[in-house]
Amino acid sequence: MKFYPEKYKEPDVAMQPFIDANEIWDIINNATSTKDEVEKVIAKSLSKQRLSMQDVAVLVNTQNPELIQLIKEGAKTLKKQVYGNRIVLFAPLYIGNKCHNNCTYCGFRVTNKEAERKTLDDQEIINEIKALEDNGQKRLVLVYGEHKDYSPEYIAHTVRVAYSVKSGNGEIRRVNINAAPLDIDGFKIVKEAGIGTYQIFQETYHPEAYKQFHLGGKKANFENRLTALDRAQEAGLDDVGIGVLFGLYDWRYEVLALVRHTNHLEACYNVGPHTISFPRIKDASGLKMGSKYFVSDEDFAKLVAILRLAVPYTGMILTAREPAEIRKEIIQYGVSQIDGGTKIEIGGYSDTLNEVQNLNRGQFKISDDRPLSDVIDELLENEMIPSFCTACYRLGRTGEHFMEFSVPGFIKKCCTPNAVLTLAEYIIDYADDETADKGWKVIQKNLDELDNEKLKSSLLDRIERVKNGERDLIY
Ligand code: SAM
Ligand code: SF4
Repeated sequence: MKFYPEKYKEPDVAMQPFIDANEIWDIINNATSTKDEVEKVIAKSLSKQRLSMQDVAVLVNTQNPELIQLIKEGAKTLKKQVYGNRIVLFAPLYIGNKCHNNCTYCGFRVTNKEAERKTLDDQEIINEIKALEDNGQKRLVLVYGEHKDYSPEYIAHTVRVAYSVKSGNGEIRRVNINAAPLDIDGFKIVKEAGIGTYQIFQETYHPEAYKQFHLGGKKANFENRLTALDRAQEAGLDDVGIGVLFGLYDWRYEVLALVRHTNHLEACYNVGPHTISFPRIKDASGLKMGSKYFVSDEDFAKLVAILRLAVPYTGMILTAREPAEIRKEIIQYGVSQIDGGTKIEIGGYSDTLNEVQNLNRGQFKISDDRPLSDVIDELLENEMIPSFCTACYRLGRTGEHFMEFSVPGFIKKCCTPNAVLTLAEYIIDYADDETADKGWKVIQKNLDELDNEKLKSSLLDRIERVKNGERDLIY
């Protein structure tokens, strides 16, 4: 099966098949993974050349533990080069769980009679945002079911509400969206509200598997979902996120399909996805997930490392679906963003009485329910810089990751200083003494490592200004 965006009916580069299941399987089945081949592919990625689908197939077929270790080491090295030691933090905020669709893996599915349906009203959204800001959050992803109540106008409205709330020094500086695919006019309306990334996960890129899990509603249309981000691009919304729900189909196929989708967006619009997400399927209300395609922890680590090597400039998101120990390990292989202090029940951030996760009020079970401060503490202990930076998007530097990858010194000149400044804000406004102590040590270490004296003194000056009450000083 082949899919083309409507717009491209002429034989040009965009006419390349977008997703062709047979082609992807042929590439996988024809790839071998000798030591020599694996080393060559890793070296190619480290020399900042994009990997072909064939190269990626060499990596997904690798079984030898020593070679898998090389893949992981390669991903670690590349991550350091591309991102430095920053990890961007965000929080998901579920706005409403009404849904017309019947995705068999999701607690919000229309057939789930146990689900407690709720859509936050404006005051409830404000309460949630206040609670998030008082915790130190600056970046959110708003999440919605697919329902007629969640129109583009409604989504845009909730984004504006989110940006309008200020609590103390707290404010939301970037709102991303995870919602149903829209038409071109719909994407324009949402873009107007000043969103960051619009994420739509394909769930599985295999058309037959897709059919088995999407039994009703608009989401049952594979092609409508697959071409959604083309419509976003046509609406001028070029900051998009893709993803797969791992566990629905063979992970090796899905990894190649994610690379294919990336190639497609690059070929047609000259900009790849801003982020890739790779959730593994979790238990949900009324559902115990078990699947022959369930991805083991070892394969999960391997697939994250392979994605890192395959698409070096794309942000990679690892969520609290995964337990803390797994997140700690996987982060090293190329993750650039994680959520912290996550609550996925509707209204969960301002409802301080509810400590235990109620599956009927959420979409699925999360495994890392630590408060944001604990997540930050662990990052600091591992000498990473927790970052709330939103500079590129707000200064109109789009294609930011491309910039990080291609402009020499961009991380040193912009990303690290911005991460340090947002960490300084967090320490002063929200951290307890112990975390503050760890945080200043990490900041000092990064200052010591700066070899550009002019930048160092400018950064020191800005840190002083943050200490004196100024906020949002960005490079
Ligand atoms: N309703 C919109 C949609 O389907 O595109 C918004 C996305 S949904 C609220 C967010 C994502 O959560 C889905 O795209 C899916 O990948 C993931 N998800 C759904 N059920 C899950 C489960 N049981 N375990 C893990 N992730 C799940
Ligand atoms: Fe609805 Fe999205 Fe859940 Fe599907 S994954 S049932 S569309 S909320």
